[in-house]
Amino acid sequence: MQQLLAFCESQRDWLLETIELLARVESPSTDKAAVDRCGRVLTDRLRAAGLRVTTVPSPTMGDHLLAELGDGDRQVLLLGHFDTVWPVGQLERMPLRRDGNLLYGPGVFDMKAGLSIATLALRALVETGRLAGHRAVLLCTTDEEVGSRTSRALIEEQARRSEAVLVLEPSLPGGAVKTRRKGCGDFDIVATGVSAHAGIDPGKGANAIHELAHQIVAVERLQDLDRGISVNAGIVAGGTRTNVIPERATARVDVRAPTLEDASRLEAAFRALTPRLAGTAVAVSGGFNRPPLERNAGVARLYEWARGVARELGRDLPEGGTGGGSDGNFTAALGVPTLDGLGAVGDGAHALHEHVDLDWLPWRAALVAGLITRIFDGAGERGTTPGRPMRE
Ligand SMILES: [Zn+2]
Repeated sequence: MQQLLAFCESQRDWLLETIELLARVESPSTDKAAVDRCGRVLTDRLRAAGLRVTTVPSPTMGDHLLAELGDGDRQVLLLGHFDTVWPVGQLERMPLRRDGNLLYGPGVFDMKAGLSIATLALRALVETGRLAGHRAVLLCTTDEEVGSRTSRALIEEQARRSEAVLVLEPSLPGGAVKTRRKGCGDFDIVATGVSAHAGIDPGKGANAIHELAHQIVAVERLQDLDRGISVNAGIVAGGTRTNVIPERATARVDVRAPTLEDASRLEAAFRALTPRLAGTAVAVSGGFNRPPLERNAGVARLYEWARGVARELGRDLPEGGTGGGSDGNFTAALGVPTLDGLGAVGDGAHALHEHVDLDWLPWRAALVAGLITRIFDGAGERGTTPGRPMRE
């Protein structure tokens, strides 16, 4: 472990340079040309690090990158994305800048530093000859920030071949990893009624907005913050004029749930919504687009291994949960042990003060490298490979 740490510490300049190279090429999820430009820079960097890189084309979003190292039947998957939430031009308003040990800039924390850490971790394994006979795959996707529609199948395919998935998303404050993520749902509720003159024929209409109001109250009752279930009607629309009884009203609702069981119960409750007012109808569409990442036995074991590696490297590794989703939600739902938040220490994801703490980053790379060796070592002890028992 000390060898891994010494190598990673010796690569501080390489790490900083890599983060800056990636951050200078802005890559908003919705701009394919921009994301592909960033992908080319990343490809060069990965190839220079000794990885075999395959481009997985996407017609609508940026092309995904599959970088492989080593050979063998046993595989660990490292997961990251190089799309960001920032538009092209944000660098002018929010330039890359150093302030002591902090590096500020759009996309550095979420998650160009995370990809740099993953690449350094793999370089450390090559350098120390610790991967012998095994495979590490680093999958870099381009649509995480917009729901991973074009990358989900690829992520799941690689996860199924892997004994564990390490997600290089930002850590929690203080460096804690994420062993729980809520599942994320998006529902559309459409109420339809009958339009009529509000003054002349009020009895002939059926008010879609009034109906929608009943439905919003009904779904609000599903919220249970103590259990970790949140329901947020975030957008409502409907009506044309005050003197017209509206025939249509819509609500978009964000729902978060900590377990698969909660998620399916909530889906059922949304599907069961029925109109309350005569002459109206209610239609519900949508559902959970990311299942929850639950702290099951496989996740807990993987975390304990990571914590053990961290201790050998001289620090504790706390854990925590978050309401936000990531691609780790998909892999955990397949039953593949997943540890998330292994990426950069910093703050301000999706915010103007986005930054990473450079002092932490070489240590994080050593942690990731050490954890990969620990996962492969685990096979020697029969039945302790985190992935296998869960799926058999
Ligand atoms: Zn992210």
